[in-house]
Amino acid sequence: MTLEAEKLMNVPTIPAPATALPPASSEVHVRNMDQYKALYEQSINDPETFFGEQSKALSWDRDFDKVLYHVGNNFSDSPAWFVGGKLNASYNCVDRWALQTPNKVAIIYEGDDAEKGYSITYSELLVRVCQMAQLLQSKGVKVGDVVTIYLPMTPEAVISMLAVARIGAIHSCIFAGFSPGAIKDRVIDSNSHVVITCDKGYRATKVIQTKKIVDEALESCPDVKTVVVINRDPSSPFPQNPERDVIYPDAAASFKSYCAPVPVDSEHPLFLLYTSGSTGKPKGMQHCTAGYLLGALLTTRHIFGVTPDDTLFTSGDIGWITGHTYAVYGPLANGATTVIFESTPVYPTPTRYWDIVDRHKVTQFYTAPTALRLLRQYGHEIIDKYDLSSLRALGSVGEPIAEEIWEWYFNYVGRGRCTVCDTYWLTESGSHLVSSIPGVTPMKPGSAGLPFFGIKPAIVDPVSGHEITERPAEGVFAISQPWPSMARSIFNDYARYQDTYLKPYPGFFFTGDGASIDSEGYIFIGGRMDDVVNVSGHRLSTAEVESSVLDATMDGESMMTECAVVGVDDEITGQALVVFAVCEPWLKDDIASGKKIPQDISIETILIVRKEIGPFAAPRKVYLVDDLPKTRSGKILRRVLRKIVAGEEKQLGELSTLSDPSVVPALIDAVKNQK
Ligand code: ATP
Ligand code: MG
Repeated sequence: MTLEAEKLMNVPTIPAPATALPPASSEVHVRNMDQYKALYEQSINDPETFFGEQSKALSWDRDFDKVLYHVGNNFSDSPAWFVGGKLNASYNCVDRWALQTPNKVAIIYEGDDAEKGYSITYSELLVRVCQMAQLLQSKGVKVGDVVTIYLPMTPEAVISMLAVARIGAIHSCIFAGFSPGAIKDRVIDSNSHVVITCDKGYRATKVIQTKKIVDEALESCPDVKTVVVINRDPSSPFPQNPERDVIYPDAAASFKSYCAPVPVDSEHPLFLLYTSGSTGKPKGMQHCTAGYLLGALLTTRHIFGVTPDDTLFTSGDIGWITGHTYAVYGPLANGATTVIFESTPVYPTPTRYWDIVDRHKVTQFYTAPTALRLLRQYGHEIIDKYDLSSLRALGSVGEPIAEEIWEWYFNYVGRGRCTVCDTYWLTESGSHLVSSIPGVTPMKPGSAGLPFFGIKPAIVDPVSGHEITERPAEGVFAISQPWPSMARSIFNDYARYQDTYLKPYPGFFFTGDGASIDSEGYIFIGGRMDDVVNVSGHRLSTAEVESSVLDATMDGESMMTECAVVGVDDEITGQALVVFAVCEPWLKDDIASGKKIPQDISIETILIVRKEIGPFAAPRKVYLVDDLPKTRSGKILRRVLRKIVAGEEKQLGELSTLSDPSVVPALIDAVKNQK
């Protein structure tokens, strides 16, 4: 048994708190472990019956003829779900609630300035979606056209997505922090002729000249003939191009308050989304209408326990898959209320999230470990002042959540009574693959939990490509059966889709991540396969070593806020570990005042990893740095660190997704100075 697998045997189980059970929803939610097991078995052994039944949660314009159509019985080709069916995503997310409960709040907008927040009911949402849809049609947008959306987290972003879907077009949201060059590449790749943007964005008092950025990008996109500009601040001017620009809401006001949705085939593309680019050139993942929407609806309902009475606050931006599935499609397909938040977790104070939770009685809160690491630095005392009793489930996504951060989240935000749903999934999966289910599955800190319905995980030997069936096991995390919300292609490049996901391990869908699975089937995600380090024949996941660094204490206090571990070539051990760590503010102060010496801190860190994981894992070097290279969605880009330690600063690769490029020269200096 490997070291990693052995360690798994000792992870204690924390029973899921009974109070986390969602109320008043016993018919649609999973109630207990036996029921989960029975439903899970059916979803794997008889997916046609299971998903045929579950598909009743959607409203269809034409019933489908076959639940799953698949050539062959493995992943040699991507499948088609609900063949012959027709539906419309905007009808499912808006009309059916607007008709039943018109005055129910669909969207709560929380602006940079909390005073400027407001709510939109389902009936108001329907009018706005219809008017935007007609505006787009009047500019020639047809079924199957791609419309690019470059907007911050605003209700108009949601309205735009749903308006595009209403007329059978395909949206491609670009995170509104990307530079003109990155926008240009994505607009050209997706062959968009229409872009929806706004005059300005607001973030922690900073005013972002959004329209100016788009204009610069479009200088190299001659095919874009229309730019719909959401005019957020009519009192201040922005650069205009009268031949191309259409000003919203003025231009939309002349359209009727209702237009019929256009039914599309189940497999018709709903959207493209370029992945965050942690591993290289962005890929335009293409998601379909029925399977995607069903995945979003079911995971939001069964994992987060969302009912129409709930208010879900997903802090992830609509520029990423988390925003698509859990800020827009998941909550609205369930008829719930979604919080759309435009600011940062620390503006005006580091209690902004908790303030929002209390003011709006948020029932499910969903964020990323990067935000939790940031907030933990401010201490739990400031959280203790908040009530937070409305919360039932806490979600985490994007990276492995280190045990220390998990415990902090569970104890101080969840007050020990909310399930932490460490949701593991990817842009390509469309919706959650693995997570705890509140009130149903017991949690194990460090584990993402058990697979969702229809997800059949496989641990594959990275060398032989064969599935490892004994338990516990560790290896490549793959999926061995199609599931409804999986991405169907990379836009205009199905060959690249096959090369990336279906061919590396024939018969499986390759996630790109490594994982371990214990004897009870709990899944522990170890990080990206590219990041796995092999020291003296021991395969170490970066997540595991990083967790032990974050665990390190000095004088009884936690030492590090963040860290990243990478492997470097080593003549004797094959690879050796190198740690990049950001000290906690108190430790930084002690270093600045001369009370502590950086070298001692490095040695202490090395000793702690040695003790926790084993002497072979003792890092060769610990660099103390001010910041780590992160993508715009907050993930650590280890490949950049690997290149810097290897002295390959000239070959850092694709950097357009870096949120702060100035981190790179600072890191190069730190490595040189701390030789
Ligand atoms: P790219 O594919 O372009 O390199 P990306 O993989 O960062 O970018 P996403 O699809 O947003 O883009 O992220 C999915 C990845 O995030 C997963 O493959 C995994 O590495 C990581 N991830 C997501 N959730 C979790 C989680 N709960 N635990 C561990 N890792 C996670
Ligand atoms: Mg990825």
